[in-house]
Amino acid sequence: MIERKEPIPPDVLKTNLAAIRARMAEAAVKSSRAPDAVKLVAVTKYVGLEEIRALQELGVSDFGESRIQDAEKKIKALSGAAPLRWHLIGHLQTNKADKAVKLFQTVHSVDSLRVAQALDKEARKQPGREPLPCLLEVNVAGEANKFGLPPQYSPLSELLQQCAALSGIRITGLMSMAPYAGNPEATSRPVFRTLRALFEELNAKNACPHPLTELSMGMTQDYTIAIEEGATIVRVGSALFE
Ligand SMILES: *Cc1c(COP(=O)(O)O)cnc(C)c1O
Repeated sequence: MIERKEPIPPDVLKTNLAAIRARMAEAAVKSSRAPDAVKLVAVTKYVGLEEIRALQELGVSDFGESRIQDAEKKIKALSGAAPLRWHLIGHLQTNKADKAVKLFQTVHSVDSLRVAQALDKEARKQPGREPLPCLLEVNVAGEANKFGLPPQYSPLSELLQQCAALSGIRITGLMSMAPYAGNPEATSRPVFRTLRALFEELNAKNACPHPLTELSMGMTQDYTIAIEEGATIVRVGSALFE
């Protein structure tokens, strides 16, 4: 994590955000979608409250955090302001599922039945609540240092069927991270294509009772490639804050 003493000036954030939105729009049009079809999740794990507030003023409504503990402090500190939508993008331990359900509006990192069951159990404790939207994280490149399900049809369809019985959560799509690499064109594009193909196969075979709609893929190094390959959500941090 990058530690900073001085907050990043709002005009720098404004310039960075405008550049990212322009590149997102261009990539969306390239993939035959509306310029604003793709959702930006601003990943704020590197920064503090000032930057989050400034981004909110610039029209950002969706924020991503990797760690429950860091997120909890920020979300609580910001809870008086207009509501933001928080996305958990990092690995979740089942003993923190209660906090995850209270703090986040979407969980991108469901990687086992145990995690899904823990979220379901906590979500059902809140009567009247809509099912918590969740995505299954897929470790497409099979990296040993990353979490996620194997990139094969059977384990994903099996977990989708098991999750369909959990009324507290609703699986809305798939998430993946490409390896960090000098050449995202060569390394990220095949990862995103694989995730998209799995997504389409799962929908074509009705692996889930409702269609999956979200593909969360693409970060600073490769978000335009991800959009070209069909991402509906990109998770961008560093490019906002450099
Ligand atoms: C940190 C992180 C991001 C953002 O990465 P940048 O390269 O800073 O844009 C996106 N997704 C996940 C899961 C992350 O942990």
